[in-house]
Amino acid sequence: MSLTLTVDGERWRSHLRATAEAHPGLVPVCKGNGYGFTLGRLARRTQWLLDQDLAPTTADTIAVGTYAELSHVSSRYDGSLLVLTPWRPFGPAVDALADDRLARRLVHTVSRLEDLGDLLARRPDARFVLERSTSMQRHGLTARELWTAAEHLQGRGARLEGVALHLPLGQGTHVTEVDRLLNDVVGAGLPETGPTGGQGAHTIWVSHLTEEELATLRHRWPDFTFRPRIGTGLWLGDRGALRVTSTVLDVHPVERGDAFGYRGRTAPKSGHLLVVSGGTAHGIGLEAPSGDLGLKGRAGTLARGGLDALGFVRSPFSLDGKQRLFAEPPHMQASMLFVPSGSRVPVVGEQLDVRVRYTITAFDRVDVV
Ligand SMILES: *Cc1c(COP(=O)(O)O)cnc(C)c1O
Repeated sequence: MSLTLTVDGERWRSHLRATAEAHPGLVPVCKGNGYGFTLGRLARRTQWLLDQDLAPTTADTIAVGTYAELSHVSSRYDGSLLVLTPWRPFGPAVDALADDRLARRLVHTVSRLEDLGDLLARRPDARFVLERSTSMQRHGLTARELWTAAEHLQGRGARLEGVALHLPLGQGTHVTEVDRLLNDVVGAGLPETGPTGGQGAHTIWVSHLTEEELATLRHRWPDFTFRPRIGTGLWLGDRGALRVTSTVLDVHPVERGDAFGYRGRTAPKSGHLLVVSGGTAHGIGLEAPSGDLGLKGRAGTLARGGLDALGFVRSPFSLDGKQRLFAEPPHMQASMLFVPSGSRVPVVGEQLDVRVRYTITAFDRVDVV
């Protein structure tokens, strides 16, 4: 009855372990819909990684996206909790400071000078990373602001845990940009490891670097420690360990001209309507029209009387290895597919493979087998 994510547990765990081994100091990222697995499950998995005999800092910190996500993670994992959304002097970022036990585990991201002063005034013992802005232009301090931050921190014994860089998804190499940003860090004269009680400015928290880029940077900056934050490549890096299925809930034969669905659409030819589990509430959306969209391709499709030429849109549901067409746009929790006569007709209860974007899909069940 469900849209189910089935995980080959052994294969998934061995991928997680291999990724953690290849990335010493790994910070697993656990945010949003938990990459399809749920936040709670990823928090428990991160605890499992922490309990493995890996490099000393590997998985000693988990990264959540927002302060609101902390409650899903904090009781299932007992290491440090890095919040990726920068701290601001309002809302859940302020509420999180009230609980002493939680506050000791939190690592805030500070991306504006005024927030640095404000956070330390509220909690002088706050642990934090300073975010340096990158070509992403999302959040972060400029080179000049890093200087000012360093002056502000002088002699305060604040718990600086490092500098955070959020890099765009790989196009070309990031090494030149990181080199430039690290020169800014050195130039700013931020407190290094030692008296601050934190990991210090020579710990660099990074995203979206390849293994080769990390190796190059470690070689070029031997005094620095790089801590890769990884979500997608960790949790979803071995797609072969994952299978998404939907259940056939009903099958109706239709003749050409028969009306069906919310919009009273008529069947273009004889075949079957399938009602399958999975709809908009799960994140199932319309896909691009099937086939070749070029003029020549369209003409060919029309000549063959293709259903997509009649406005039918390809669905992410497959039957016998072939992606099937939506009979109409997906409903809240189910979808209607049209299978023309000549295709095999599935039985109620049969499972269909579904192609999804994991980061936007809410599964009814996650089965680790
Ligand atoms: C989401 C996020 C990551 C992880 O990104 P993936 O592409 O899922 O590996 C790393 N850093 C920051 C700041 C993020 O927001």
